[in-house]
Amino acid sequence: MVIKPKFRGFICTTAHPEGCEREVRQQIEFVKSKPAVNGPKKALIIGASTGYGLASRIVAAFGAGAETLGIFFERPSSGNRTATAGWYNTAAFEKAAAEAGIKALSLNGDAFSDELKQQAIELIKREFGQVDLVVYSLAAPKRVHPKTGELFSSVIKPIGQAFTNKTVDFHTGEVSEVTIEPANEEEIRHTIQVMGGEDWEMWVDALLEAGVLADGAISIAYSYIGPEITHPVYREGTIGRAKDHLEATAKELDAKLQKIGGHAWVSVNKALVTQSSSAIPVVPLYISLLYRVMKEKGLHEGCIEQMYRLFTERLYAGGPVPVDEKGLIRIDDLEMRDDIQREVLERWHAVNGENLNELSDIEGFRRDFFRLFGFESDGVDYEADVNPDVKIPSLQE
Ligand code: NAD
Repeated sequence: MVIKPKFRGFICTTAHPEGCEREVRQQIEFVKSKPAVNGPKKALIIGASTGYGLASRIVAAFGAGAETLGIFFERPSSGNRTATAGWYNTAAFEKAAAEAGIKALSLNGDAFSDELKQQAIELIKREFGQVDLVVYSLAAPKRVHPKTGELFSSVIKPIGQAFTNKTVDFHTGEVSEVTIEPANEEEIRHTIQVMGGEDWEMWVDALLEAGVLADGAISIAYSYIGPEITHPVYREGTIGRAKDHLEATAKELDAKLQKIGGHAWVSVNKALVTQSSSAIPVVPLYISLLYRVMKEKGLHEGCIEQMYRLFTERLYAGGPVPVDEKGLIRIDDLEMRDDIQREVLERWHAVNGENLNELSDIEGFRRDFFRLFGFESDGVDYEADVNPDVKIPSLQE
């Protein structure tokens, strides 16, 4: 069938298998063009199919030659419904890994459940023995608590008072004001349950208890801080509370992992276009301005450049891992540079529907968004017939 993008709100409901493969191959080529990473040997990546988790998996496998077990929640194709992008990405990743002779296994299911954790542990025991890196890169809208069965839904809202600021509809280029009403206590609690550190801790506890973490194993989760203009909706909002919890969890996990000579960290990453970040109001306009300023200064990075730098200059640089005064790894250092933030803020105040193209990289944002789903990728014939039914080799019965 011929596959075109279809939108429902900020979500694209179709994905293109060849475009996704091309995007994954490009990330792999980037890593292969760089010096090898003196990194993990066997890695478990939770949230491995898109965004930062996929890029972490690619750096581990193609930079360090690591065997990987990737966990994600994606949908295969059915009838004339395409699979999700993360499904096609993983199929492409496994295919490339097989060509390179690198072991890659995957599990598709709910990472928040006890069942999936047990499946992962059994697979690690059988296929890897132990892992020496655990990347926790989930971004999810909902979580069913594995012990109580309670369903939690995360929200992205400010806390205390309503927040009004500029936002952009990146499909139409319309810049408008958006007001987001504050969250109630229940919504804050739910968001912490979904995006906080409890599940990360459950993973590390289960892996430790099963004896499948190698001596010196490390675990890393991802966070975001960003500029003051987004603080009310991000860092000081519901999601920020969840990130506070995640960062506090890192300290507890670090103490547990130190008993086997390991460590746990949170890395603060750059704001980038992913399926999760494009759904947050205000943030797409900030990212469009940031992209423009960072591209003009030759400092722009995507997920793969960020993760390559995280592995080579922070996690596996050879010395003690550099952290800030709060113990966080900062790979958002370029985004947060004074000159970049000053320029973005000036443009933020000036930007409107008329000068959007001049001041921001809204086109880059839009294109990156389409590419998340395998569309607008160079060298793909989007008029050609493609088979949407693509298998992930390791998930074949
Ligand atoms: P993403 O949406 O691209 O990826 C989310 C991953 O989680 C996917 O692999 C998805 O399949 C998986 N997933 C979701 N629910 C699941 C479930 N129940 N079970 C198993 N897998 C599930 O997100 P992303 O933007 O790469 O975010 C990853 C992490 O990085 C998050 O912690 C996010 O806060 C953080 N981060 C993102 C940005 C950004 O700008 N995108 C910046 C800094 C930090």
